[in-house]
Amino acid sequence: MHTNCFIGGAFVPASSGRTFTVRNPANDAAVAEVADGGAADARAAVAAAAAAFPAWKSTAAIERAKPLRRLTELMHRDAERLADLCSQECGKPLAEARTEVAYGASFLEWYAEEGKRVYGETIPASDPAKRLLVLRRPCGAAAAITPWNFPIAMVTRKMGPALAAGCTQVVKPAEQTPLSALAIAALAAEAGLPAGVLNVVPGMDAPAIAACFFDNLHVRHVSFTGSTEVGRILLRQSADNVVRVSLELGGHAPFIVFDDADLDAAVAGAMASKFRNAGQTCVCANRFLVQRGVHDAFVERLTAAVGALKVGDGRAAGTQVGPMIDDAGVAKVEAHVADAVAHGAQVRTGGTRAQVPGGSSRFFAPTVLSGVTPSMRCFREETFGPVAPVCAFETESDALRMANDTPYGLAGYLYTRDGARIMRMAEELQYGIVGVNDPLPATAQAPFGGVKHSGLGREGGHQGIEEYLDLRYVSWRVG
Ligand code: ADP
Repeated sequence: MHTNCFIGGAFVPASSGRTFTVRNPANDAAVAEVADGGAADARAAVAAAAAAFPAWKSTAAIERAKPLRRLTELMHRDAERLADLCSQECGKPLAEARTEVAYGASFLEWYAEEGKRVYGETIPASDPAKRLLVLRRPCGAAAAITPWNFPIAMVTRKMGPALAAGCTQVVKPAEQTPLSALAIAALAAEAGLPAGVLNVVPGMDAPAIAACFFDNLHVRHVSFTGSTEVGRILLRQSADNVVRVSLELGGHAPFIVFDDADLDAAVAGAMASKFRNAGQTCVCANRFLVQRGVHDAFVERLTAAVGALKVGDGRAAGTQVGPMIDDAGVAKVEAHVADAVAHGAQVRTGGTRAQVPGGSSRFFAPTVLSGVTPSMRCFREETFGPVAPVCAFETESDALRMANDTPYGLAGYLYTRDGARIMRMAEELQYGIVGVNDPLPATAQAPFGGVKHSGLGREGGHQGIEEYLDLRYVSWRVG
């Protein structure tokens, strides 16, 4: 297991000599002591990335693709080890961690190919003696600040497009989950990625590390996935050196079920969207809006399915729902349920913390709430936990108004068989991602990202690599 900073192709302790403990949220067991990188280490990593940039950007895209593709293969080779590490540090069930390894690797594979298609443009000039060209050039060193809920995939989703574009990168993984990022760095070195192209600085002092991404002219792009609150701080910091930022922030996804929906599919979709990672993903359904005609049947079926979920240690056989990442996470879930109940919602199943033998106090029983109204906290704020609040609606326009009544705009879901309604809703929902009869829309080849307070920029798809490219317009007088 690698526990040191990865800078300039070598694993090195933090310059302060300090370490911090990574713990399994399921049982508080220490997983590892990890180098507590700080500003000095972040500066060294930025310097390594800046030093590696000229050679990497000049390497042909077809050559840059080779270590990325090889890294994909190595991730598949080591999938079981990576999944186990991921489950230990973030608590998610092993089955989900295995899916994450494959999902994470898919970004490297896809961008290894997409990097070959960074085409330029020629523009017909008004002056026949001129030739007008547009080149797309890697913007420089890049930085990535990643969250704990996808310790592997949020690293590779940023790393794939950056490295394929010809940028070098410094990654600051979440303090809860640095081990997966360090494991990827070790595999990247094994895959033949040149020293300095990828650097990883784990550490407890995120603001001190992040400040080093904004106080110089080497880092030209910072990609962040995390809370809206921290996203705002980074956006402000980016102003001084006019650094481009991509922000993938909080969500508050509506999951809308119309009377004409395939109810079995809607319930299965609700389970997949809501309870993945114990409800701790930014695209998890956070509010269920169900049309009156199917409301009672939906609640009944959802309650039965949710009541049957197996809660436990992510590494234990059969676990479907693991722990919350930390005490604050479980306290927030508890507070949202208490607030809903105090304002008249009914607990259909769950509603309290769950006891897991030998486990921590961070497990929360998968919960269904009915009778939820728009004034309740769970309807207004991101719960980030295994709670499904259900609210009835009457008409399509009611659903749309309720769905859009939030500052967030990441993912929205709808279940219906009416084609014209699908198009109307897809156009009018103020969300960057719309899942139509599809609870899991994220994939490497499509643009992922939000509007309003959910963020700026896109990851995935050909759009994702644009974030790392500067346009260079060349006006060439030939006569
Ligand atoms: P969450 O609430 O999901 O933990 P955060 O936004 O706090 O989300 O964390 C996401 C990432 O941002 C983590 O890597 C964390 O260390 C980092 N982070 C937290 N605070 C700051 C900050 N002030 N500046 C830069 N990065 C930060």
